[in-house]
Amino acid sequence: MSKKRSSEASETSKAKQPRHWSMGLLESMKNPELIVKETEKLVAIKDKYPKAKIHYLILPHENISGISKLNKSHIELLEEFKRLYMEFTVMHKEAGLRAGFHAVPSMQRLHMHVISTDMISPSLKTKIHWNSFTTDFFIPVDDIIKELKENGMLKPISKELHKSLMGTPLKCNQCSFEPKNMPNLKEHLLTHK
Ligand code: AMP
Ligand code: ZN
Repeated sequence: MSKKRSSEASETSKAKQPRHWSMGLLESMKNPELIVKETEKLVAIKDKYPKAKIHYLILPHENISGISKLNKSHIELLEEFKRLYMEFTVMHKEAGLRAGFHAVPSMQRLHMHVISTDMISPSLKTKIHWNSFTTDFFIPVDDIIKELKENGMLKPISKELHKSLMGTPLKCNQCSFEPKNMPNLKEHLLTHK
């Protein structure tokens, strides 16, 4: 179990959880307190452990477990994901929202992250958290659609690449600053207003 997974699993396990922590999104996507927008095909919720000031997850009602299950038939659905993301960019014009998927998701049910550039949040704690949003581990939705159009499926990343992306030295996502550690990075992020 990775650091990211274990730290959030222990937070999750404080609440009464009838299912394994990796199924938590299935509960959350039905929770009116977390839902911010719902359409016929999709639901957008607030991420329970946000890694930035704005952090939403967009999920399909259709039972698709994750990106590994995507094929050409899902391109139209992914265009819907994009349309919802565009609505959020209109609502939060200054936030520099990005939309994408983790190359190796930890939670069940396909989910697209919509996250602001600030990366200021108490839940952003580890290098793994940081690198999962600031390296190629974060795959923009347009790249996913392009790969599905070209190859009909997504090529999984290798264990070696996964390890090297997670081990990437810390670097600010808004300038060339190379922090010594996470507290140093978090302090630095506050200077970008
Ligand atoms: P991923 O690595 O793409 O699977 O990311 C899963 C995301 O789900 C992370 O950003 C977590 O903060 C978030 N998360 C974990 N558990 C829950 C939950 N029960 N409800 C809502 N969001 C969650
Ligand atoms: Zn910076």
